[in-house]
Amino acid sequence: MNSASVEAASLFEKVATYATRFRTSVGDRPQRPEATYREALQAFEAPTPESGTPADYVLSDLVTRASPGLHAMTGPRFYGWVIGASHPVGVAADWLTSVWGQNAGNHMAAPAAAAAETIAARWLLDLLDLPRQASVGFVTGATVANFVCLAAARGEVLRQVGWDVESNGLFGAPSISVLIGEEAHATVFSALQFLGLGHDRVIRVKADEAGRMIPPALAEALRNCSGPTIVILQAGQINTGACDAFPELIPVARAHGAWIHVDGAFGLWARACPARSNLVASIEHADSWASDGHKWLQTPYDSGYAIVRDAEAHRRAMTISASYPPPVSDGDRDPSHFVPELSRRARGFATWAMIRHLGREGIAAMVERHCRLARRIASGLASEPGVSVLNEVVLNQVIVSFGADASPEIGDNLTCRTMQRIQADGTCFMGGVQWRGRWVMRVSVISAQTTDADADQTILAVIRAWRAVQEEHGIQKSV
Ligand SMILES: *Cc1c(COP(=O)(O)O)cnc(C)c1O
Repeated sequence: MNSASVEAASLFEKVATYATRFRTSVGDRPQRPEATYREALQAFEAPTPESGTPADYVLSDLVTRASPGLHAMTGPRFYGWVIGASHPVGVAADWLTSVWGQNAGNHMAAPAAAAAETIAARWLLDLLDLPRQASVGFVTGATVANFVCLAAARGEVLRQVGWDVESNGLFGAPSISVLIGEEAHATVFSALQFLGLGHDRVIRVKADEAGRMIPPALAEALRNCSGPTIVILQAGQINTGACDAFPELIPVARAHGAWIHVDGAFGLWARACPARSNLVASIEHADSWASDGHKWLQTPYDSGYAIVRDAEAHRRAMTISASYPPPVSDGDRDPSHFVPELSRRARGFATWAMIRHLGREGIAAMVERHCRLARRIASGLASEPGVSVLNEVVLNQVIVSFGADASPEIGDNLTCRTMQRIQADGTCFMGGVQWRGRWVMRVSVISAQTTDADADQTILAVIRAWRAVQEEHGIQKSV
């Protein structure tokens, strides 16, 4: 071995040892960062390096500086933001992805990367039971998946009225009606913004108390629309986990001739779980679907899927139009034809590895277990006086408020203080959000590591915090 190889070998071994230590002890760390952003900034503060530093030292220095500001997001009692826990198998495949250094743009340059994607795409369509001829783009996450699907939608609804948006852009184009539920995820509005469709010019369709689009409201809104139309539905509302009533909504949108897109960042995975799939029945009749690998499939970040029924519409929207790289003549799939980027990491490997590791049965069992644990946490919390579970727990999401008998203002204050105490305690982590005008605590059960014992520890930690807040509140009131 030459000296560069010796250095690389030593570096990789050290990182592997460190990784093992980090991941095996993450459950013992507090479920919150020790350092604030300001403190983390201080830890990294340094002028631009003028000369180099030996590899070993750079990596150990990185670990030292980063450690206090790391959030134990891969820990077993992390319930923030509906994000998966970077399963070790996905992480290991992701390491190999970096080690192999494949530029996954086209199948001639990187055959294995392109092949893994092709097969992982087929497995995804099978597991999610979506049309098998649909195309799948491997993107960074559901935000970009929504963007890609809606780009295909925009292109196709305009093509049908004789407008080529890929060539001519939106200047002078017929206008498009975009209908979206009022409780859609914020990132879908960003996708619309990137596409020149505007985040405010959309028609917001009324939703019920669980955040589901109300079918007669969609029918009514469509009656007032003519010309190219896109309807955006949702599987898995971020706060309640509720899924739109697809069997009722899709036929209405279809009869109108709309392109039907579904944001299913996490909720689409209910399709892979027979015990939950009734929530997302009929979804296969839509035109496009956005989902994430880094949520319920537990791949590391940088993993989302843009799935489009009409593969040609998908390609037209994403193909790089210049003659570089060479056009594909053999009909084989090039990864870059379904995503915005050309050069990128080979995202298919991690997805392939997670599906292979868990299998259809393992994925179904995990989704069902998370839903069961969510119900367990909900019922454990609801039995404590003053704690209210605000949603019907149909999936893995639970929203909770504290101070049931208090005025809205005091209730919001008690909820926020309870969350602060929970976060300071560090047994578990959940975030707060505003839902229908009130502050709520949101619990997302979506880590492969979370067990019944973790759920029980979580219930106790929350109740402990709530009791302490009540005591404090009582003391404040009496002085
Ligand atoms: C998480 C989420 C998104 C955004 O996904 P990213 O992977 O963070 O880009 C969009 N929609 C819903 C419903 C989500 O839960």
